Amino acid sequence: MNTLIKNLRVIISLAFMAITTATIVSAAVGVGVHYRWIVSVQIVPCFLEAFVASIVAWLIITIIFGRVYCSSVCPLGTLQDFISRLYAPRGRESSVRRYRYRRELRGVRLFFLIVMLLAVIFGTSVIIYALDPFSAYVHIIDSALYPTMPLDPLIVPFSAFLTGIATALVTVIFSLRWGRLLCNTLCPVGTLLGYISARSLFRFDINADFCTRCGKCEDVCKSSCIDLTDLVVDGSRCVDCFNCISVCPHNAIRYTTSRHRLSDPLMQPTSSASSVSAPASNQSVKSPSES
Ligand code: SF4
Ligand code: SF4
Ligand code: SF4
Repeated sequence: MNTLIKNLRVIISLAFMAITTATIVSAAVGVGVHYRWIVSVQIVPCFLEAFVASIVAWLIITIIFGRVYCSSVCPLGTLQDFISRLYAPRGRESSVRRYRYRRELRGVRLFFLIVMLLAVIFGTSVIIYALDPFSAYVHIIDSALYPTMPLDPLIVPFSAFLTGIATALVTVIFSLRWGRLLCNTLCPVGTLLGYISARSLFRFDINADFCTRCGKCEDVCKSSCIDLTDLVVDGSRCVDCFNCISVCPHNAIRYTTSRHRLSDPLMQPTSSASSVSAPASNQSVKSPSES
Protein backbone atom coordinates (compact mmCIF):
# COMPACT_ATOMS: atom_id res chain seq x y z
CA MET A 1 0.00 0.00 0.00
CA ASN A 2 2.77 2.44 0.95
CA THR A 3 4.66 1.64 -2.25
CA LEU A 4 1.46 2.19 -4.23
CA ILE A 5 1.05 5.66 -2.73
CA LYS A 6 4.65 6.50 -3.54
CA ASN A 7 4.31 5.26 -7.13
CA LEU A 8 1.11 7.25 -7.57
CA ARG A 9 2.91 10.34 -6.34
CA VAL A 10 5.71 9.74 -8.86
CA ILE A 11 3.24 9.30 -11.74
CA ILE A 12 1.38 12.50 -10.84
CA SER A 13 4.61 14.49 -10.58
CA LEU A 14 5.84 13.18 -13.97
CA ALA A 15 2.48 14.06 -15.54
CA PHE A 16 2.68 17.62 -14.22
CA MET A 17 6.27 17.96 -15.44
CA ALA A 18 5.36 16.61 -18.89
CA ILE A 19 2.40 18.97 -19.31
CA THR A 20 4.42 21.92 -18.03
CA THR A 21 7.28 21.11 -20.40
CA ALA A 22 4.89 20.76 -23.35
CA THR A 23 3.41 24.16 -22.52
CA ILE A 24 6.82 25.83 -22.34
CA VAL A 25 8.01 24.21 -25.58
CA SER A 26 4.85 25.12 -27.45
CA ALA A 27 5.12 28.73 -26.28
CA ALA A 28 8.79 28.88 -27.31
CA VAL A 29 8.31 27.48 -30.82
CA GLY A 30 4.99 29.24 -31.31
CA VAL A 31 2.81 26.26 -32.14
CA GLY A 32 0.11 27.65 -29.92
CA VAL A 33 -0.60 24.67 -27.68
CA HIS A 34 -1.02 26.32 -24.30
CA TYR A 35 -2.19 24.58 -21.17
CA ARG A 36 -2.86 27.86 -19.43
CA TRP A 37 -4.17 26.17 -16.31
CA ILE A 38 -0.74 24.70 -15.54
CA VAL A 39 0.54 28.21 -14.84
CA SER A 40 -2.42 29.03 -12.64
CA VAL A 41 -1.49 26.21 -10.24
CA GLN A 42 2.12 27.38 -9.84
CA ILE A 43 2.56 29.32 -6.63
CA VAL A 44 4.63 32.38 -7.61
CA PRO A 45 2.61 33.02 -10.81
CA CYS A 46 -0.51 32.72 -8.62
CA PHE A 47 0.78 35.53 -6.40
CA LEU A 48 1.97 37.71 -9.27
CA GLU A 49 -1.29 37.40 -11.16
CA ALA A 50 -3.45 37.45 -8.02
CA PHE A 51 -5.14 34.10 -8.58
CA VAL A 52 -6.82 34.24 -5.19
CA ALA A 53 -8.59 30.89 -5.56
CA SER A 54 -5.32 29.09 -6.30
CA ILE A 55 -3.53 30.80 -3.41
CA VAL A 56 -6.28 29.84 -0.97
CA ALA A 57 -6.38 26.29 -2.33
CA TRP A 58 -2.61 25.84 -1.84
CA LEU A 59 -2.82 27.29 1.65
CA ILE A 60 -5.52 24.81 2.63
CA ILE A 61 -3.79 21.86 0.95
CA THR A 62 -0.51 22.67 2.70
CA ILE A 63 -2.13 23.11 6.10
CA ILE A 64 -3.79 19.72 5.76
CA PHE A 65 -1.33 17.59 3.76
CA GLY A 66 2.04 19.39 3.85
CA ARG A 67 4.22 20.20 0.86
CA VAL A 68 2.13 18.51 -1.83
CA TYR A 69 3.14 21.28 -4.23
CA CYS A 70 6.80 20.31 -3.79
CA SER A 71 6.16 16.59 -4.13
CA SER A 72 3.93 16.60 -7.19
CA VAL A 73 3.32 19.93 -8.91
CA CYS A 74 6.54 21.94 -8.99
CA PRO A 75 8.43 20.90 -12.15
CA LEU A 76 11.77 21.96 -10.67
CA GLY A 77 11.24 19.57 -7.75
CA THR A 78 10.47 16.68 -10.10
CA LEU A 79 13.50 17.58 -12.22
CA GLN A 80 15.69 17.37 -9.11
CA ASP A 81 14.29 13.92 -8.31
CA PHE A 82 14.95 12.81 -11.87
CA ILE A 83 18.56 14.02 -11.77
CA SER A 84 19.26 12.57 -8.33
CA ARG A 85 18.00 9.18 -9.54
CA LEU A 86 20.87 9.14 -12.03
CA TYR A 87 23.31 9.00 -9.14
CA ALA A 88 21.41 6.33 -7.16
CA PRO A 89 23.60 3.41 -6.05
CA ARG A 90 22.92 0.29 -8.08
CA GLY A 91 21.19 -2.66 -6.40
CA ARG A 92 18.98 -2.82 -3.34
CA GLU A 93 21.78 -4.24 -1.20
CA SER A 94 24.26 -1.49 -2.02
CA SER A 95 26.36 -0.53 0.98
CA VAL A 96 26.58 3.08 -0.22
CA ARG A 97 24.42 5.31 1.96
CA ARG A 98 22.60 7.81 -0.21
CA TYR A 99 21.38 10.40 2.29
CA ARG A 100 21.93 11.17 5.95
CA TYR A 101 20.19 13.47 8.37
CA ARG A 102 21.41 17.05 8.21
CA ARG A 103 20.51 19.97 10.39
CA GLU A 104 18.31 22.68 8.91
CA LEU A 105 20.15 25.65 7.39
CA ARG A 106 17.57 28.05 8.80
CA GLY A 107 19.56 31.23 8.26
CA VAL A 108 20.00 30.49 4.56
CA ARG A 109 16.32 29.63 4.13
CA LEU A 110 15.14 32.79 5.87
CA PHE A 111 17.60 34.94 3.93
CA PHE A 112 16.23 33.87 0.54
CA LEU A 113 12.64 34.09 1.76
CA ILE A 114 13.16 37.67 2.97
CA VAL A 115 14.94 38.61 -0.29
CA MET A 116 11.98 37.23 -2.25
CA LEU A 117 9.41 39.04 -0.10
CA LEU A 118 11.29 42.33 -0.49
CA ALA A 119 11.54 41.75 -4.25
CA VAL A 120 7.77 41.22 -4.45
CA ILE A 121 7.07 44.31 -2.32
CA PHE A 122 9.37 46.52 -4.41
CA GLY A 123 8.53 44.85 -7.72
CA THR A 124 12.11 43.78 -8.49
CA SER A 125 11.29 41.36 -11.27
CA VAL A 126 14.89 40.23 -11.88
CA ILE A 127 15.11 38.81 -8.36
CA ILE A 128 11.57 37.41 -8.43
CA TYR A 129 12.19 35.47 -11.64
CA ALA A 130 15.62 34.32 -10.44
CA LEU A 131 14.19 32.82 -7.25
CA ASP A 132 10.83 31.58 -8.56
CA PRO A 133 11.14 27.80 -9.12
CA PHE A 134 8.63 27.82 -11.99
CA SER A 135 10.53 30.57 -13.83
CA ALA A 136 13.76 28.67 -13.18
CA TYR A 137 12.28 25.61 -14.87
CA VAL A 138 11.09 27.71 -17.82
CA HIS A 139 14.62 29.10 -18.22
CA ILE A 140 16.12 25.61 -18.15
CA ILE A 141 13.77 24.32 -20.87
CA ASP A 142 14.22 27.43 -23.00
CA SER A 143 18.00 27.14 -22.79
CA ALA A 144 17.81 23.48 -23.80
CA LEU A 145 15.76 24.46 -26.87
CA TYR A 146 17.86 27.48 -27.77
CA PRO A 147 20.66 25.84 -29.82
CA THR A 148 18.40 23.44 -31.73
CA MET A 149 15.33 25.39 -32.76
CA PRO A 150 14.67 28.60 -34.69
CA LEU A 151 13.48 30.52 -31.67
CA ASP A 152 12.28 34.06 -31.83
CA PRO A 153 14.97 36.09 -29.98
CA LEU A 154 12.24 38.37 -28.68
CA ILE A 155 10.66 35.37 -26.93
CA VAL A 156 13.86 33.69 -25.76
CA PRO A 157 16.69 36.26 -25.69
CA PHE A 158 20.33 35.22 -25.27
CA SER A 159 20.36 36.48 -21.66
CA ALA A 160 17.56 34.00 -20.88
CA PHE A 161 19.68 31.26 -22.44
CA LEU A 162 22.59 32.10 -20.12
CA THR A 163 20.25 32.29 -17.11
CA GLY A 164 18.88 28.88 -18.01
CA ILE A 165 22.36 27.36 -18.26
CA ALA A 166 23.36 28.78 -14.87
CA THR A 167 20.10 27.58 -13.30
CA ALA A 168 20.52 24.12 -14.79
CA LEU A 169 24.07 23.87 -13.47
CA VAL A 170 23.03 24.81 -9.94
CA THR A 171 20.12 22.36 -10.08
CA VAL A 172 22.27 19.49 -11.37
CA ILE A 173 25.05 20.03 -8.82
CA PHE A 174 22.66 20.32 -5.86
CA SER A 175 20.41 17.39 -6.78
CA LEU A 176 23.20 15.01 -7.78
CA ARG A 177 25.01 15.57 -4.52
CA TRP A 178 22.33 16.43 -1.98
CA GLY A 179 18.89 15.44 -3.27
CA ARG A 180 16.46 18.22 -2.37
CA LEU A 181 18.89 20.53 -0.57
CA LEU A 182 18.12 23.27 -3.11
CA CYS A 183 14.46 23.00 -2.05
CA ASN A 184 15.44 23.48 1.58
CA THR A 185 17.91 26.31 1.20
CA LEU A 186 17.63 28.50 -1.91
CA CYS A 187 13.93 28.16 -2.74
CA PRO A 188 11.77 30.75 -0.97
CA VAL A 189 8.57 28.92 -1.97
CA GLY A 190 9.86 25.78 -0.26
CA THR A 191 10.69 27.76 2.88
CA LEU A 192 7.27 29.42 2.97
CA LEU A 193 5.43 26.14 2.41
CA GLY A 194 7.80 24.39 4.82
CA TYR A 195 7.01 26.62 7.75
CA ILE A 196 3.30 26.09 7.11
CA SER A 197 3.64 22.32 6.69
CA ALA A 198 5.71 22.00 9.88
CA ARG A 199 2.34 22.13 11.65
CA SER A 200 0.24 20.42 8.97
CA LEU A 201 -2.50 18.04 9.97
CA PHE A 202 -0.95 15.04 8.20
CA ARG A 203 2.76 14.59 8.84
CA PHE A 204 5.32 11.82 8.81
CA ASP A 205 5.68 10.41 12.29
CA ILE A 206 7.96 7.68 13.67
CA ASN A 207 6.41 5.25 16.11
CA ALA A 208 9.24 4.81 18.58
CA ASP A 209 7.82 1.51 19.83
CA PHE A 210 8.29 -0.11 16.42
CA CYS A 211 11.36 1.67 15.02
CA THR A 212 14.58 -0.37 15.15
CA ARG A 213 16.68 2.52 13.81
CA CYS A 214 17.73 0.42 10.86
CA GLY A 215 18.36 3.63 8.90
CA LYS A 216 16.53 2.60 5.72
CA CYS A 217 14.21 5.60 5.78
CA GLU A 218 17.09 8.02 6.41
CA ASP A 219 18.94 6.45 3.49
CA VAL A 220 16.18 7.36 0.99
CA CYS A 221 15.14 10.71 2.46
CA LYS A 222 16.25 13.19 -0.16
CA SER A 223 15.44 16.07 2.21
CA SER A 224 17.75 14.59 4.86
CA CYS A 225 15.11 15.48 7.42
CA ILE A 226 14.66 12.19 9.34
CA ASP A 227 16.44 12.44 12.68
CA LEU A 228 16.87 8.90 14.00
CA THR A 229 18.57 10.13 17.15
CA ASP A 230 15.44 11.77 18.45
CA LEU A 231 13.08 9.81 16.13
CA VAL A 232 11.51 12.91 14.61
CA VAL A 233 10.86 14.10 11.07
CA ASP A 234 11.44 17.79 10.32
CA GLY A 235 8.10 18.60 8.72
CA SER A 236 9.34 21.94 7.44
CA ARG A 237 11.81 20.18 5.13
CA CYS A 238 9.82 17.05 4.29
CA VAL A 239 8.64 17.20 0.67
CA ASP A 240 5.99 14.48 0.97
CA CYS A 241 7.78 12.08 -1.38
CA PHE A 242 6.67 8.94 0.53
CA ASN A 243 10.07 7.28 -0.01
CA CYS A 244 10.50 6.60 3.69
CA ILE A 245 7.25 4.75 4.33
CA SER A 246 7.77 2.60 1.25
CA VAL A 247 11.06 1.16 2.60
CA CYS A 248 10.35 0.83 6.33
CA PRO A 249 10.33 -2.91 7.15
CA HIS A 250 8.36 -2.41 10.39
CA ASN A 251 5.72 0.08 9.31
CA ALA A 252 7.16 2.37 11.97
CA ILE A 253 7.07 5.59 9.96
CA ARG A 254 3.64 6.73 8.87
CA TYR A 255 1.83 9.59 7.22
CA THR A 256 -0.69 10.31 9.92
CA THR A 257 -2.47 12.84 12.09
CA SER A 258 -1.38 11.12 15.31
CA ARG A 259 1.96 11.49 17.11
CA HIS A 260 3.63 8.56 18.85
CA ARG A 261 6.07 8.42 21.71
CA LEU A 262 7.59 5.32 23.29
CA SER A 263 5.04 3.52 25.43
CA ASP A 264 7.68 3.32 28.19
CA PRO A 265 8.71 6.93 28.99
CA LEU A 266 12.05 5.73 30.42
CA MET A 267 12.94 4.50 26.90
CA GLN A 268 12.53 7.94 25.29
CA PRO A 269 15.41 8.55 22.89
CA THR A 270 18.10 11.00 23.96
CA SER A 271 20.32 13.16 21.83
CA SER A 272 23.31 11.03 22.83
CA ALA A 273 21.80 7.85 21.45
CA SER A 274 23.28 6.35 18.31
CA SER A 275 21.33 7.04 15.15
CA VAL A 276 22.02 3.68 13.59
CA SER A 277 22.24 1.08 16.35
CA ALA A 278 18.90 -0.21 17.58
CA PRO A 279 18.19 -0.52 21.28
CA ALA A 280 17.86 -4.17 22.19
CA SER A 281 14.44 -3.61 23.68
CA ASN A 282 13.17 -2.11 20.43
CA GLN A 283 14.48 -4.96 18.31
CA SER A 284 11.99 -7.39 19.73
CA VAL A 285 8.92 -5.20 19.30
CA LYS A 286 6.69 -6.32 16.47
CA SER A 287 4.94 -3.80 14.29
CA PRO A 288 1.26 -4.20 13.35
CA SER A 289 2.35 -5.39 9.91
CA GLU A 290 4.38 -8.22 11.41
CA SER A 291 1.95 -9.31 14.08
S1 SF4 B 1 11.07 23.75 -2.66
FE1 SF4 B 1 10.90 25.09 -4.42
S2 SF4 B 1 12.01 24.09 -6.09
FE2 SF4 B 1 11.65 22.58 -4.49
S3 SF4 B 1 9.79 21.57 -5.14
FE3 SF4 B 1 9.18 23.16 -3.67
S4 SF4 B 1 8.73 24.95 -4.92
FE4 SF4 B 1 9.86 23.51 -6.23
S1 SF4 C 1 12.43 0.94 11.41
FE1 SF4 C 1 11.44 2.20 9.85
S2 SF4 C 1 11.31 4.24 10.79
FE2 SF4 C 1 12.80 3.07 11.98
S3 SF4 C 1 14.79 3.54 11.04
FE3 SF4 C 1 14.06 1.65 10.07
S4 SF4 C 1 13.00 2.41 8.23
FE4 SF4 C 1 13.21 4.16 9.59
S1 SF4 D 1 10.54 12.30 5.53
FE1 SF4 D 1 9.87 10.75 4.05
S2 SF4 D 1 8.35 11.81 2.80
FE2 SF4 D 1 9.52 13.39 3.86
S3 SF4 D 1 11.15 13.93 2.43
FE3 SF4 D 1 11.97 12.36 3.80
S4 SF4 D 1 11.61 10.43 2.69
FE4 SF4 D 1 10.32 11.98 1.73
